[in-house]
Amino acid sequence: MERDVASRVGVETEVASQGKTEADVASRGWTETDIASRVGQLRKEIEHHTYRYFVLDDPAISDAAFDSLMRELRELEAAHPDLVDSSSPTQRVGGWVGDQFAPVAHTRRMYSLDNAMDLGELDAWLNRVKDAFGRMVPVMCELKIDGSSIALNYRDKVLVQAATRGDGTTGEDVTANIRTIKDIPLRLREGAQDELVSVDGAIEVRGEVYMPKKSFDALNVAAENEGRAPFANPRNAAAGSLRQKDSAITATRDLSSFIYAIADESALRVSSQGALLEWLREAGFHVNPDVKRCETSEEIHDFCKQALKKREELPYEIDGVVVKVDSFAEQASMGYTARAPRWAIAYKFPPEEKTTTLLDITVQVGRTGACTPVAELEPVVIAGSTVSRATLHNLDEVQRKDVRIGDRVVVRKAGDVIPEVLAPILNLRPAHAQVWQMPTLCPSCDSPLVREEGEAAFRCISIDCPAQSLERLGHWASRGAQDIEGMGEEIIARLVEAGHLKDVADYYLLDEEVLAALDMGRINTKGEPIRLGTTVAKKLVTALEASKSRGLARVIFGLGIRHVGKTTAEQLAAAYPSAEKLMEASEEDLAGIDGVGVVIAQSIRQFLSTSDNRAVIERLVLYGVGMEEVSVGESLPQTLVGLSFVLTGSLTQSGMTREEAGAHLKARGAKVSGSVSAKTSYVIAGEAAGSKYDKAVALGVTVLNEDDFLRILETGEPPSSRNLSLAITEK
Ligand code: AMP
Repeated sequence: MERDVASRVGVETEVASQGKTEADVASRGWTETDIASRVGQLRKEIEHHTYRYFVLDDPAISDAAFDSLMRELRELEAAHPDLVDSSSPTQRVGGWVGDQFAPVAHTRRMYSLDNAMDLGELDAWLNRVKDAFGRMVPVMCELKIDGSSIALNYRDKVLVQAATRGDGTTGEDVTANIRTIKDIPLRLREGAQDELVSVDGAIEVRGEVYMPKKSFDALNVAAENEGRAPFANPRNAAAGSLRQKDSAITATRDLSSFIYAIADESALRVSSQGALLEWLREAGFHVNPDVKRCETSEEIHDFCKQALKKREELPYEIDGVVVKVDSFAEQASMGYTARAPRWAIAYKFPPEEKTTTLLDITVQVGRTGACTPVAELEPVVIAGSTVSRATLHNLDEVQRKDVRIGDRVVVRKAGDVIPEVLAPILNLRPAHAQVWQMPTLCPSCDSPLVREEGEAAFRCISIDCPAQSLERLGHWASRGAQDIEGMGEEIIARLVEAGHLKDVADYYLLDEEVLAALDMGRINTKGEPIRLGTTVAKKLVTALEASKSRGLARVIFGLGIRHVGKTTAEQLAAAYPSAEKLMEASEEDLAGIDGVGVVIAQSIRQFLSTSDNRAVIERLVLYGVGMEEVSVGESLPQTLVGLSFVLTGSLTQSGMTREEAGAHLKARGAKVSGSVSAKTSYVIAGEAAGSKYDKAVALGVTVLNEDDFLRILETGEPPSSRNLSLAITEK
């Protein structure tokens, strides 16, 4: 994150490296006056957010959105040097010193770190290191903890003062608050003094105070319950908790620390970062175990990639990797710039949020006819992939967020989640920004859209809507349903166009000949139409055959009945293990199944009563699609009925996947869900459990470990205080 605003001068962003900077996207066609006014607007906005962040500990926008504003300002200033002035936020070094706490002058400056925004920039830094020594020197890779920097002073091995980084030269005295943090030793451990040089045992160590993710969630749940404003992220929660006037409040906040540096290397008889970390551990400090001494660029890249993979599962936030020249002598020979050591670099993870321009809002018709507004965006690279479309969920969301066409918007993409527009940046709203209206007609078939009472979605209710039927066909072939490998959107669309596919049963009439001859709507260099060809056709035929035996639950899910997701489909298949029985079931019977309420039962009944749908199911049976459910042990006693479980982390003892573990629980009548709510009976947390664990703790749901889980399977009995080794509440 770039609150330390001078840190990225000259650093090209991912967007910039595509030859398209955010500034030139934004300034396209602008006059000098427009640019000057934009620069003024950006500065005002940045100053406002800097104040909220540092002084109020209450940021109003995400770090990524802030960085994006700063990047745009810097690029505009670089392109128009006449606009630069000394009061611009780009010219400021460091953070902010508040006046609530006594100032502490740092004996040695607390530096910031230079950033590498991608592995290429990391290599550029490594090359500078190599140039300095004429060879590669060993480096230490550490996780970059996303907390609040802290300096701890010890005299005679006793903690005497703790200070925040402040602006790097002067910090704030937060000793009383730091003393409440349990993993910060108030006294150094015996034995640690052997390496201390000074007679009075004076030493200043530095590190990061952070708030674990689960404590952050719990703090915000409590804040919400008490009507207080929640913290924006764990880092702000840590900084805010450290800067409490009343240390009794800090004491109630679950803060932890990782210590990784000393202010003055000459105070200690150790000669490298690696040795320092060992000494810190012996002296009683909490030292992060995830460190590695590396000697090649490949090893360093590998550490960074692993760290990015681990990020989600770690119980605390990290925002990158810090790479440091290991030897103190070599560090000293490289020295410092005005604001950062030359011997270290922070590799920053790709941000999961960025800003871009909302070009248009279109409507996508789903398989059940629901119409979703979709943001068409100026393409932007987020977390390593280009995003040009993002969901806006529904009309209410568009109105609530007040997103208008032409707005600069914050877009988020995390992991496999569908990209989402979070909010517009109101102060950057152009005069021509347009309020969007839901169209009255379906964009695919022109039939009027309807909105049922109490529903967020507008719907196309025409049964002949081509957009819906394409979506339904795609859904049947998708991984969670029949998993027809290779049957992608384009092929499906071509098959529909050629008249080979109208409903899902038609898939099973396709043969190699028809598929191979399919016209893909493009021509080759000789001007002939490109066909699908025999190689792909053969593979598809095999995939179609394999898709016939995925079991009843996936067939039910694949049919795309409104309100019937994967879990409901599994419940239905468990209750009616054959399609015939399911087709006969009455609405009342259906509503009686656990997890199927009246609304879902009505929807299923309606679907099954439609003659077209019944015909499709009958044809599927005729073409050999298996309609029997095969579950793990149908004959097991249903001892877990009424209980709901959520699985998280990996089950290392049994080596079971979460799906397998879930199947065992379901076979005993339990419900297994993907997300934790107050209604969840138990969360089973394996190793490296993630946010579901945190949520369970926040909501007070009992967390079981793998031993408990295995005992449930062994005894077949529901968890009780009698057969649980421990209902753990911490990892
Ligand atoms: P930034 O504030 O983004 O410029 O990043 C620099 C800050 O990263 C330092 O001031 C430290 O507070 C913090 N940091 C977190 N983890 C580490 C680490 N392992 N080594 C050094 N600095 C770290």
